[in-house]
Amino acid sequence: MSTQSLYPVNADFAAGAKVNEEQYRRMYQESVVNPEGFWREHGQRISWFKDYTKIRKVSFDDHNLYIKWFYDGTLNASYNCLDRHLESRGDQPAIIWEGDDASEQLTLTYSQLHQQVCAFANALRGQGVQRGDVVTIYMPMVPEAAVAMLACARIGAIHSVIFGGFSPDSIASRIIDGKSKVVITADQGVRGGRIIPLKANVDAALDNPDVSTVERVICLKRTGGDIQWQQGRDIWWHELMAVSSPYCPAEEMGAEDPLFILYTSGSTGTPKGVLHSTGGYMVYASMTHEYVFDYRDGEIYWCTADVGWITGHSYMVYGPLANGATLLMHEGVPNWPSPARMGEIIDRHKVNIVYTAPTLIRALMAEGEAHFDGFDGSSLRVLGSVGEPINPEAWRWYYDVIGKEQHPIVDTWWQTETGGILISPLPGATDLKPGSATRPFFGVQPALVDNMGNLIDGPGEGNLVLLDSWPGQMRSVYGDHDRFVLTYFKTFRGMYFTGDGARRDEDGYYWITGRVDDVINVSGHRLGTAEVESALVAHPDVAEAAVVGYPHDIKGQGIYAYVTLNKGTEETEALRQTLRQWVRSEIGALATPDLIQWAPGLPKTRSGKIMRRFLRKIAANEVGSLGDSSTLADPTVIDSLIEARLNRT
Ligand code: ATP
Ligand code: MG
Repeated sequence: MSTQSLYPVNADFAAGAKVNEEQYRRMYQESVVNPEGFWREHGQRISWFKDYTKIRKVSFDDHNLYIKWFYDGTLNASYNCLDRHLESRGDQPAIIWEGDDASEQLTLTYSQLHQQVCAFANALRGQGVQRGDVVTIYMPMVPEAAVAMLACARIGAIHSVIFGGFSPDSIASRIIDGKSKVVITADQGVRGGRIIPLKANVDAALDNPDVSTVERVICLKRTGGDIQWQQGRDIWWHELMAVSSPYCPAEEMGAEDPLFILYTSGSTGTPKGVLHSTGGYMVYASMTHEYVFDYRDGEIYWCTADVGWITGHSYMVYGPLANGATLLMHEGVPNWPSPARMGEIIDRHKVNIVYTAPTLIRALMAEGEAHFDGFDGSSLRVLGSVGEPINPEAWRWYYDVIGKEQHPIVDTWWQTETGGILISPLPGATDLKPGSATRPFFGVQPALVDNMGNLIDGPGEGNLVLLDSWPGQMRSVYGDHDRFVLTYFKTFRGMYFTGDGARRDEDGYYWITGRVDDVINVSGHRLGTAEVESALVAHPDVAEAAVVGYPHDIKGQGIYAYVTLNKGTEETEALRQTLRQWVRSEIGALATPDLIQWAPGLPKTRSGKIMRRFLRKIAANEVGSLGDSSTLADPTVIDSLIEARLNRT
């Protein structure tokens, strides 16, 4: 594996790219010097029923906060994703679907998708759903998930998608928060060969006496498995569709009308119901999709995220469909039934752009490269990463093994709250540095501040904030505007606080160092978790690592590392010493882990992010007060980590 640290833009790529370096600089400059003019022009990339004349109205003052974009325009998100393509690309595939079992394949053209959305939109209306109502969607990764979302958008209902892996309690709390009258689900889902009892989970959620608003459960038949049925409340998707007219004009929505609510991943605490509005979001999601992936007409684009996450909203449904792309949607997980699945899917469908998460890359790495021996990969052009900092070692593996040392990687930093990508390379413009999300997208003004809120100039490290709004920004926490103001605008006056820390290097590139809550302070020196973890992951025996601080008498905080080894590597005391030395030589004595616990698994959110807050508690020996674990993918991991903890006092 190479240790190269700079990957200059490929000249051939740049020649055919949407944007090269010179254009990036010019457009970025214009976007911050003259945001009104810049967005007046780029707002035209989507179709408006009534064009806007007002561009933006923004104040980040926590006593008088407002964020509005294109706010006298009207439009419809589903019209933008469907109707406007019918003439030019009605017969082009909009969604190519591959089942968990690869023998199941399905293609929907733009006109077929349009018909289904219209019919389902009418069905929703028939069930009493009105403009402004919140509809809960708890679906597997099937085209009907996108149909349900777009049908809501078509009639002006607000969707709230819940990831299909969540438990009845998590569903219940989100339904209560959104006061949904209608829930859309399926009998069962299939993921990695396992059956997920979706309808049974909804039934259990609705048994909760605090859930009192739901009148209707619409159920898609996916597997035909046994389920309970409540007459009068439950109704089959196909029965509704059979009698529904496929003609449904799209509702004219104001730019600032809500499009959806989506709860954050819950890495740091209780999930927040992030509210996104229509106009700015559509402009921003489609524009970032086009420029960040250098998307070209006719390309096949595969995003491995579930629709239940923001990535699944902005870069599987709204952004790519607004751009008329062909999406590949996969029902299962890309490393099942074996790690070779990822390469097989790319080759089978001739995928041009793939967008995935570091957790998957690390999982594939740990299994060894042999699974990619037969992988061709010649259709690929751009690779993307999102969700966590990507360790340089994982970046290089992605670049070498999946990208065959040819294709740019866009490491995209953003949040549920931001609606779209804020910091990322543009593949034809940006020289790449593994582990750095590099530079801001057009209109985005990141900055670093110290803990007092003072701006840090030039190279340095601090809290990552945004000084001005961008069209895709969230507008509120659903039902709790005070929490919105408090969470994002009170820490540093007049700025949006991301909760993340970052370093800016001499080229102005940003390196996300991790969440600010996770920063470790060793003998007065601040260390980002990402740096120490990346050093550990760079060791050939290490698959994954999570690092936290714990109370240490002399240093203030000591470094506690949880390490998952590659398949087949033995957990020995000698290796522990080797790893300590390794980190010492990679970063410095200060970063040497005090304690290393072998961790066969790490606690992760359902979207695959490491949840360090649990690890912090275990390291501090405070195992009695772990807090909300409802967003954990596998709660049993915690018990085994507690069992084997090292810092018993
Ligand atoms: P919660 O806000 O509920 O604690 P969460 O922050 O994990 O959960 P998301 O909105 O899904 O919820 O994730 C956004 C966060 O993910 C970012 O704030 C950042 O910490 C991390 N992240 C996303 N992409 C990247 C990236 N490319 N590099 C580094 N970190 C990233
Ligand atoms: Mg967050």
